[in-house]
Amino acid sequence: MNKDQSKIPQATAKRLPLYYRFLKNLHASGKQRVSSAELSDAVKVDSATIRRDFSYFGALGKKGYGYNVDYLLSFFRKTLDQDETTNVILIGVGNLGTAFLHYNFTKNNNTKISMAFDVNQSKIGTEVGGVPVFDLNDLELHIKDEPVAILTVPAVAAQSITDRLVALGIKGILNFTPACLNVPDHIRIHHIDLAVELQSLVYFLKHYSVLEEIE
Ligand code: ATP
Repeated sequence: MNKDQSKIPQATAKRLPLYYRFLKNLHASGKQRVSSAELSDAVKVDSATIRRDFSYFGALGKKGYGYNVDYLLSFFRKTLDQDETTNVILIGVGNLGTAFLHYNFTKNNNTKISMAFDVNQSKIGTEVGGVPVFDLNDLELHIKDEPVAILTVPAVAAQSITDRLVALGIKGILNFTPACLNVPDHIRIHHIDLAVELQSLVYFLKHYSVLEEIE
């Protein structure tokens, strides 16, 4: 993200990829403008929030016109550094890790898993989804300046691997393990615990009606 956008609140920044993906689809279907109501419907964010988010990008929608799709797209491309591919490493080529290696992330944005690591000898030296799997013992040999790592290892292994990644200068970790990771303040961790997410979805469905406003 460039300097001018350093003032964008974190909550807004987190919604950027969501907006970006939807706008790309709109653009592909030939639409040139979009209202905040349409956006709101598609990305499930209320339109007041969208208007506030977009005002941070200097995109002020015109009444009765909406937002210019091309303008927004070029802004998002620049902001999210979409013109440059970000190499990501993955650690733990189990069921989840394997699924990620087969998933084509570049369809939606310019991130690419460039290499994977595991400790299982039957996986080391193979390619999964076109990505080479290396021995985790050789992590320090292979890592250059990849800024992001995806962790799909058993929870017990997560912290020690994280410590090594931090020492290697990683900037962000997408943590799919149930472990809570301790890292220095300058490292960003996004924690996605699929079991917890699913459980909380089921809880909300049981306890709240769909139309009820959940703050
Ligand atoms: P699988 O079915 O291949 O065993 P899984 O997703 O059910 O995968 P997990 O036990 O969660 O199994 O392990 C995920 C992956 O992490 C496996 O490929 C395993 O070899 C690997 N792994 C286990 N311990 C470590 C470790 N300390 N460092 C790196 N990778 C590890």
